[in-house]
Amino acid sequence: MTGVTRHVPLRRCVGCGRQRPQAELVRLAAVPDEGIVVDRDQRRGGRGAYLCPDSKCVKRALARGSIPRALRTPGSGAAWAERILGAGT
Ligand SMILES: [Zn+2]
Repeated sequence: MTGVTRHVPLRRCVGCGRQRPQAELVRLAAVPDEGIVVDRDQRRGGRGAYLCPDSKCVKRALARGSIPRALRTPGSGAAWAERILGAGT
């Protein structure tokens, strides 16, 4: 170990607008035929949007329609939000 800080890719949460290391964020991707999916492994191609794994950010993004805007995909409901927040309630 050298103590040199390795470069960490930062991404902006579309909910709160804060920049955080990509690994701390949840990636959403617009996938043809599937719509907006939660890209847990961050391996999907295409346009992506990032959110803190925080219900406040998810709800804020949902209320603002930030995800469809960031992904440039129409409407498409809120199934992705339920997937982040945990299905059920
Ligand atoms: Zn956030």
